[in-house]
Amino acid sequence: MAQQTHIRLNDGIDIPQIGLGVWQVENRDAPKVVKAAIDAGYRSIDTAAIYGNEEGVGAGIRAARVPREQLFVTTKLWNDRHGAKNTFKAFDESLKKLQLAYVDLYLIHWPTPRANLYVETWQALQEIKQSGRAKAVGVSNFKVPHLERLIGETGIVPAINQIELHPRFQQKAQREFHARHNIVTESWSPLGQGRVMKDPLIAGIAQKHGRTPAQVALRWHIQNGFVAIPKSVTPSRIVENFQVFDFELTEDEMEKITTLDNNRGRIGPDPDLFT
Ligand code: NAD
Repeated sequence: MAQQTHIRLNDGIDIPQIGLGVWQVENRDAPKVVKAAIDAGYRSIDTAAIYGNEEGVGAGIRAARVPREQLFVTTKLWNDRHGAKNTFKAFDESLKKLQLAYVDLYLIHWPTPRANLYVETWQALQEIKQSGRAKAVGVSNFKVPHLERLIGETGIVPAINQIELHPRFQQKAQREFHARHNIVTESWSPLGQGRVMKDPLIAGIAQKHGRTPAQVALRWHIQNGFVAIPKSVTPSRIVENFQVFDFELTEDEMEKITTLDNNRGRIGPDPDLFT
């Protein structure tokens, strides 16, 4: 099988382009799901404090017996823990649950602009990074004005912004801002929570390549230079979603998928409003 691909973050570390997302994976199921993914070749796992499964994720990582330095583990700070003091405490709790000495990436899960604490929180993440307990730090669900404020007030550019991104919601202006500032775009719900599997255009392209619609969608993310974190608890789908490094979409197919963009395609909440 072809090698998985990586993207270099602005602080010099590499993130695998495909990782396993574990939102809505029960803590008791997480060990076997995470182990199945690592056994299938995944080296990146995306969890969050709010998912309630950091303990299970940590157990899965240990069960897989892959050297820690080969793995890329992401977790996130929940909305009610913004502010420096709370952030330090929440981060310690996450590491303890994961039973890890460090995470590879720590993200502010949502900007929660109404609380107006994301700049202070971002500064706290810098201290965590300096302590070596997070190799890289970034954000999630930050819109352009939130990023502009963060960069303007601190001078520090996030390594990554993890945002809702799939063929029906492509966030072009947001991505262009990321590219200008050397912020990696990470796609959450890269399969549109299953909606892309029902799209006839993607199904047609999949048929031509002898692949599944999920694999075509993931290929679209990879060839656009995104990181994607598809979620599945089904072992065969976990394997399928990782078998995406040995074929390529043509420029024409990439273009066709780009036409599926729909400004009403957002599934999740608007980050300006979410608390
Ligand atoms: P997704 O787009 O990954 O879709 C997952 C669903 O698609 C699964 O429940 C499964 O039913 C189906 N599926 C997966 N692989 C399939 C396959 N090969 N064939 C057929 N069906 C398949 O959606 P998601 O779980 O919302 O997003 C993925 C990850 O993104 C999450 O687990 C989480 O880690 C992250 N996420 C982050 C945020 C954020 O605010 N930062 C928000 C949502 C999700």
